Amino acid sequence: MSFKGYSVDTVTDMNTKDGLWSRLGREAGAGGIYHSISPIDGVKLADISLASDEQYERTVEGACTTFLDWREVPAPDRGQLIREIAEKLRSRKRELGLLITSEVGKISSEGEGEIQEAIDIADFAMGLSRQLYGRTMHSERREHRMFEQWHPLGVVGVITAFNFPAAVWAWNAFVAAVCGNCIVWKPSERGLSTAIAMTELCDEVARRWGCGGLFSLVSDNDGRFGARLASDPRIALVSATGSVAMGRSVAETVGRRLGRTLLELGGNNAAIVLADADISLAVRSILFSAVGTAGQRCTTMRRLFVERSIIDELQRRLVDEYQKVQVGDPRNSSILMGPIINENAVRQFEKAVAIAQDQGATLIIGGNRLSNMPSSLYVQPTILRVDRPIPIMREETFAPILYLCPVDDFEEAVKFQNDVPQGLSSALFTSSMRYTEQFLSVTGSDCGIANVNLGTSGAEIGGAFGGEKETGGGRESGSDSWKQYMRRQTNTINFGTKGHLAQGIVFDGE
Ligand code: NAD
Repeated sequence: MSFKGYSVDTVTDMNTKDGLWSRLGREAGAGGIYHSISPIDGVKLADISLASDEQYERTVEGACTTFLDWREVPAPDRGQLIREIAEKLRSRKRELGLLITSEVGKISSEGEGEIQEAIDIADFAMGLSRQLYGRTMHSERREHRMFEQWHPLGVVGVITAFNFPAAVWAWNAFVAAVCGNCIVWKPSERGLSTAIAMTELCDEVARRWGCGGLFSLVSDNDGRFGARLASDPRIALVSATGSVAMGRSVAETVGRRLGRTLLELGGNNAAIVLADADISLAVRSILFSAVGTAGQRCTTMRRLFVERSIIDELQRRLVDEYQKVQVGDPRNSSILMGPIINENAVRQFEKAVAIAQDQGATLIIGGNRLSNMPSSLYVQPTILRVDRPIPIMREETFAPILYLCPVDDFEEAVKFQNDVPQGLSSALFTSSMRYTEQFLSVTGSDCGIANVNLGTSGAEIGGAFGGEKETGGGRESGSDSWKQYMRRQTNTINFGTKGHLAQGIVFDGE
């Protein structure tokens, strides 16, 4: 497999080329070497040189310098640069998708889907570049005009998780760029090859526009540069995607310097199936949400609350579907589930299955690591049945485990659904208009995403994406999320000759 003429299985060679690698200051081994190993078969994909402290410094300084020019480029022109990137991504969709598959193990159509998502947000950002609207408001003072406008923030630091090594950065980067910011990316080391490929592609376009430094990257293998971005006062906004523990640390650090954060953290998503639901539709949706991406989406369905009268039938039909799921090499088109990311993730999976059973759950299907696979990282998609919610259901285990639990009615289901620390995504399956509206009302789901008759995962880019409570409260991607990447300025102009004061205050000393 090759990217831009380089072979990704000899990425070490790329370090010596006069490309982004060296521009990022990646003198071999300056900050150590990361060995990128494919979870599919344990084959080494790349030896990647990590950044040193000095390289971090140069990268951030470069972004700060570029910002001084980029902020003055008219927003519609900034949109044209992103349009060029979208075209490049279209022409490289297959290769990049395959790189994602090789690096994090998601199936090919999901790997390519992630690049499609990056293309979609680039298209969206281009349109947005002509719509960064401010409001005008009527002044209470005669001959005064009042309005607000939006200016870029500066340098945006984007910290990303392994499971969406391209799309989540693209959500942030393309919207932030049309808003006039420069972006420094700190990807997960487990998605570093993809991050480098994406950055190289975008940087090439930016350089043609004379904007090198618009998109740059700092690499580590332990989050140290993520923490550094958080404490760095030159970083106007830290957008961080990952675990709740990471988000808490970033929020504390950025909060101490009164900087801005945008947090997209762990989810623990539930679906509710009522007795009047279309069960076939529910089963298909649950399968994708619970098993897709091997249970490693922030929006993965982890808890399923089902009205008692239909739970046995739903369980039977889900088990039928789970038995048909082929687990294996995700590059093969018949495979629905690839490996999970690493040995630690497999251990967390095994631990959760054991703890759940200790807490009273019954194993319905799965629960084990698979042998005779191309690597030791393949597990069975798993369903555990409980009578009532058990303590482990409050935690996010990043693996394909679904807890199935009966409920008496809609009210009990919503209560159980909301009774967790996280608040990302939720779903209701019903044909009742009344329950649909109740689920979406203020007393219904407390999540950032609430769907009816579709699963918890697979969001479109057009909506604002994010969740409440420990999920962090951030919103990215579509709708008016762009406002997070800009600073608002309220302006008042007096076009008369008298100096009226607001609230009718008189202050003329006569
Ligand atoms: P993680 O928290 O281990 O790492 C995420 C990123 O944070 C990595 O780049 C890592 O290097 C960096 N990091 C680690 N410690 C840091 C620190 N102290 N300061 C700053 N940065 C630090 O997460 P992961 O295992 O890569 O991803 C899985 C998690 O991400 C899950 O909890 C999942 O739900 C979450 N996630 C959330 C969303 C969302 O939109 N809500 C999307 C994708 C993933």
